[in-house]
Amino acid sequence: MCVFCKIINNEIPCYKVYEDDQVIAFLDISQVTHGHTLVVPKKHYENIFVLDEAIAGELYKAVVKVSNILKKGLNLTDLNIINNNGPVAGQTVNHYHIHLVPRYSDDGVSFFIPPKEVNHDKLANLLEQILNNQ
Ligand code: 5GP
Ligand code: ZN
Repeated sequence: MCVFCKIINNEIPCYKVYEDDQVIAFLDISQVTHGHTLVVPKKHYENIFVLDEAIAGELYKAVVKVSNILKKGLNLTDLNIINNNGPVAGQTVNHYHIHLVPRYSDDGVSFFIPPKEVNHDKLANLLEQILNNQ
């Protein structure tokens, strides 16, 4: 059983921020920033590619709720929402989860996505490749 399933089954403890029928949110054991929280479906799905769409809806409702719990509780103004799928993308726990990472002006963290040169021919070809492979 995976570590998040053990938390959900109360086999190992967590610092629970929020819970409903289908979703639990708890503090990440390794706090990237003050208040770093994971929002997790109670049912085990490995990643976004197998996540049930109805659960995804419930999960994102919880993301909004928990974001506002953190905002109020920590007087936040800024927050990153991150989800890693697969080892190359940095996923280390194979139970789908969404990171809520509160941001502070001096936190030293960066999730910056660098801008690249715009090429419309490449964009058109890329879109064709994506849509032709469905
Ligand atoms: P990932 O790297 O898969 O996107 O995120 C996994 C996260 O789970 C990491 O940030 C890691 O600190 C957290 N984590 C791993 N094991 C535990 C645990 O036992 N309890 C809690 N609360 N967080 C955990
Ligand atoms: Zn699991």
